Amino acid sequence: MRALSKVDLHRPPTSDAQLATMRAEVRAEAKDRPGVYRMLSADGEIVYVGKSKKLRTRLLSYFRCSFPEDKGARIVREADKIEWDYTPSEFAALLEELRLIKRFRPRLNVAMMRDARHFAFIKLTRGIAPKLLVVRGAGAEDAQIYYGPFHGAQRVGEAVRELNDALGLRDCRLDQPMHFADQPELFHLYPRTPGCIRHEIRKCLGPCVGGCTSSEYDERVRLVRSFLDGADDGPMNLLREEMIAASERLEFERAASLRDKVQRLEGLREQFIKFRFAVETLSFVYTVPGYEGDDRLYLIRRGRVRGEYALPRSEPDRVRLLEMVEDVFNPVERDTAQVPSHEIDELLLLSSWFRRFPAELGRSCAAKAFVAEPPPLEYDAANDPIFTSAATSAA
Ligand code: SF4
Repeated sequence: MRALSKVDLHRPPTSDAQLATMRAEVRAEAKDRPGVYRMLSADGEIVYVGKSKKLRTRLLSYFRCSFPEDKGARIVREADKIEWDYTPSEFAALLEELRLIKRFRPRLNVAMMRDARHFAFIKLTRGIAPKLLVVRGAGAEDAQIYYGPFHGAQRVGEAVRELNDALGLRDCRLDQPMHFADQPELFHLYPRTPGCIRHEIRKCLGPCVGGCTSSEYDERVRLVRSFLDGADDGPMNLLREEMIAASERLEFERAASLRDKVQRLEGLREQFIKFRFAVETLSFVYTVPGYEGDDRLYLIRRGRVRGEYALPRSEPDRVRLLEMVEDVFNPVERDTAQVPSHEIDELLLLSSWFRRFPAELGRSCAAKAFVAEPPPLEYDAANDPIFTSAATSAA
């Protein structure tokens, strides 16, 4: 990373004089090239992180906001100091911005959080008697298992209810005490009353009241994971069997209700299939021409950046790079809709980047083709499909 440039003012953030000095510093020092910037309060808190492909222009725009309620005006009026780093490209700036936001969680970075909240995720909690939750965006805890992202939180919520009911999983509060049937020593301490009606109406195995052993409950959790991983249709098959039985008993209303449940689960499964397809298409070597020849290669697999390297300039560097490509792409990975929580934001960022700039895919190359025909030792600008119009996003 290049040396940090700084504007260090140590003055009250709302002072017009301070703003004028900050602007003068930006005008004098900042270059119009890709980079990330941090707005710091007087006590050193990073209050906002941003990126731009034209850093100087972007920073100066903060001082041109016409109204105090403008987002830019509000941000810069909280800042006492601006720091920035240059990056080789807008794509590199985008990745670095994400990393800084995840690391420092600046309070004014609501825009990115709002993006993440457009999507719903299914979260499988850990610990005793895991349960499914529908959440918007990934939480801060890295230890949880997430499936998604999905559109339509309400529909996903209904499908999760069907899953819970079909498999007898609990949906009560996380702090509800659990008493499995294989923990009989506990029952003289606790009454045998379930925490809710779901056990009595056979929609929950009742781990709160000894209705099942821990291994019986774990087996249902295994089934739900298997369904969410796309490995089997166990919950749908259970509902279909019930539907046929209800129909044979001439209980047509119940059979119709079970059919609707099956359809909701099928809708969820469709979303999984689409999601897995989208993730799989985000697997390639991506070459990004950089500022003043700082060209980079990104090894992207299943929607996550697994490696970032300078374009090789010598034969030994090229050999090392090919080894890295094989290390990243050769290991077999399970085809699943499961995403580690710390990778969700990156997955959303990459899919949004290539959706906004589909021409960038012209700079990608499947790993096998890349290994079969390694890159030249200099970036081949003449053959770049979008070299002259690359990354034309608004700053
Ligand atoms: S029956 Fe018990 S474990 Fe099941 S949802 Fe109700 S309170 Fe939770």
